[in-house]
Amino acid sequence: MVALALAAKICLSLLALTPVQAFVGMGINMYNPSCAYACRSVIAGASIECPSSAATSTCQARSGPFLTTLAYCIKTRCYPDPNPSREQIEAYWSIEATGDEDAPPMWGWQEAVDRVNGTPSAKYDPKSKMRETVLLDQKDWLAAKQKMEASEYQQVLYARYALTIFLVGIGTPILLTALTYLPYSRVISDWVRPRLIYPTLFRRHVQPVLYLFHLPTLGQSTYILLITILTITLLLVDYGNLFPFRTSTEADILNYLGMRTGIIAMALLPLTILFAGRNNLLLYLSNWSHSTYLLLHRWIARLCLFVIILHSLIEFVRYTLQGRYAAEVAKTYVQWGIVGLFACFLAVLTAHFRRWGYELFLISHIVLVVIFIVGTWYHLELKFQRERGYQQWIYLCSAIWFFDRLVRLGRVLRTGRRKAVVSKIGDEVVRVDIEGVRWSATPGQHAYLFLPAVRKWAPWENHPFSVIPTHLLQKRCAEKGEMDEKNSPQTSASASTADLEIARQLHTPVLSSIHTTPSGVTVFIKRNKGITAALHSHASPVFTALMDGPYRNTSSRPVLTSDRLILFTGGIGITGVLPFVHAHPNVKLFWSVRAGQEALVEELEPTLPAHVERGVRVGGRNSIEAALEAEVAAGWKNVGVVVCGPGKMCDEVRNRVAELGRRAAVKWELDVEAFLW
Ligand SMILES: Cc1cc2nc3c(=O)[nH]c(=O)nc-3n(C[C@H](O)[C@H](O)[C@H](O)COP(=O)(O)OP(=O)(O)OC[C@H]3O[C@@H](n4cnc5c(N)ncnc54)[C@H](O)[C@@H]3O)c2cc1C
Repeated sequence: MVALALAAKICLSLLALTPVQAFVGMGINMYNPSCAYACRSVIAGASIECPSSAATSTCQARSGPFLTTLAYCIKTRCYPDPNPSREQIEAYWSIEATGDEDAPPMWGWQEAVDRVNGTPSAKYDPKSKMRETVLLDQKDWLAAKQKMEASEYQQVLYARYALTIFLVGIGTPILLTALTYLPYSRVISDWVRPRLIYPTLFRRHVQPVLYLFHLPTLGQSTYILLITILTITLLLVDYGNLFPFRTSTEADILNYLGMRTGIIAMALLPLTILFAGRNNLLLYLSNWSHSTYLLLHRWIARLCLFVIILHSLIEFVRYTLQGRYAAEVAKTYVQWGIVGLFACFLAVLTAHFRRWGYELFLISHIVLVVIFIVGTWYHLELKFQRERGYQQWIYLCSAIWFFDRLVRLGRVLRTGRRKAVVSKIGDEVVRVDIEGVRWSATPGQHAYLFLPAVRKWAPWENHPFSVIPTHLLQKRCAEKGEMDEKNSPQTSASASTADLEIARQLHTPVLSSIHTTPSGVTVFIKRNKGITAALHSHASPVFTALMDGPYRNTSSRPVLTSDRLILFTGGIGITGVLPFVHAHPNVKLFWSVRAGQEALVEELEPTLPAHVERGVRVGGRNSIEAALEAEVAAGWKNVGVVVCGPGKMCDEVRNRVAELGRRAAVKWELDVEAFLW
């Protein structure tokens, strides 16, 4: 925490030096010089000669008494102390004297000062017409100045706090990853992983709660908690400078609190969008997985929605207290805010039901988020006209989103239009061979497959599937019955069960064809309810395919550099772990398959290299506990575990590895490649 706070502080100090006009306090000044702004604030509503057809600012620009009063106030109040530079005063004068850039004053500041003869004797009276240079009351001027300074100070804080949240949000994964490169970090990380990173909360993670949401792991919860605590803390601290004035009312305080909630929500927005991206830069700058970022996307979105609701409630109470609720709600900027609020609320709410109709969810989610962003833009634009830099957050969100979409397009174009040959593997699975794709055989890769001809009315539809380089599938076990059944804990432990153990009969000892090139990838697709079902019932075996990929969930390096690699998988999950068996010399594979999916086993089991120990079980389950205990008993020092299968299996493996990691002397590396996000 201390390190994080320090990192945030350093980033902030660096940002403070940036000469760009980004945020208030970082290139944008609101009321500087405040002595001059306070002068104008006191007489802004002064009664001057002004025809009803002219704008107030135009009249002020031409009103001698108004300009000389303002110039004299600036001269006497700004000098000698706090003494803004002459250039500053002139700059202020030319733009702000009338409050309208398009209505510059008819005299320069010095000229207006020179037109004042001695010390004015008349005092400013807002009720009577200003006909000569008048003196402003010191109390009024001071109150206006203090209020402006307090307001600017608050704005500077908003900008800093929003940036802090954003920087801590993106900096934490980068920093924690960087720490793993320090000397002795390995010892610490071996200790931390089974205690903080791997454990689940309430033993569930991949399995959704009530089909609605996923619980974070302990490590993920720590991050969510960090951002939540930081957000709440930064919403609540540092209002001290507002209280000294007698003039600060409850509504004033609510105004500041409302603004702060609004701006802090803006900082959470780019984080939320960044975490959802397939091409999230943090995937390259940190060792956190894509599935972790997707989970964080949802939790940070919930936090963002909470802060936005808070913002709306505070504004509602403020307007009601001030008796101007009806008037405010009639304003366009408030209406855009309400549109944004509802769009955000619906986007977060409907995401919980995505499993009931993923495509509908996806399209509505994008539309709702666009409405939310556009609503927020107009909410800010109509209220602040880009004067305070809030629009930077919208630019950032758009940049992150478009960057992701552009890189996706680039990936699809790079792979190009491909021919996909589809063949049925039993009743539930199809094999899709996509020719001419030249991707490395790195394990743990998936890609988004477009098959526009399958559902012509939704050609944009694309879904993630694990990719296997086709040449890996053409290998055949040379020796029949080579698997090491004796060492397989499941076979000895449950040999008496009625499970159908078919692996042994399935080996094809001869290569049917030798694949001489590494080009071409294959995906195995299990029938679900959407496009995968349509694919099964489609008559044509040849399709045009586009591919967005390859992507990886996380680096496979840690598991692949372990002494021993254990792979757990269930059903179609084999496609997620298959490339691992070719990438490690000491592998044991546990694959459980439901009765009825024998064809998949027949298709894939013979492709396993001879050195792979295996426990393939059709109609039964491998005992995860026994399998892991056996590795501990075998005395391996460093064991990598990869699991890809149903949520229950993924969670059990995770929980067991975490328990053993805390108890046994073995060092574990865990990689969960779930098919469920
Ligand atoms: C990283 C990853 C790798 C995968 N690899 C394979 C594989 O090799 N073989 C295989 O058969 N399946 C794989 N899946 C699952 C596969 O993506 C879904 O089965 C497929 O998207 C279902 O399509 P459908 O239109 O039939 O979905 P539906 O029947 O509409 O939905 C079925 C389920 O799939 C989920 N789903 C649907 N579309 C998507 C999407 N675009 N992104 C994420 N989830 C979605 C839904 O939430 C729902 O739970 C993988 C999933 C992920 C996340």
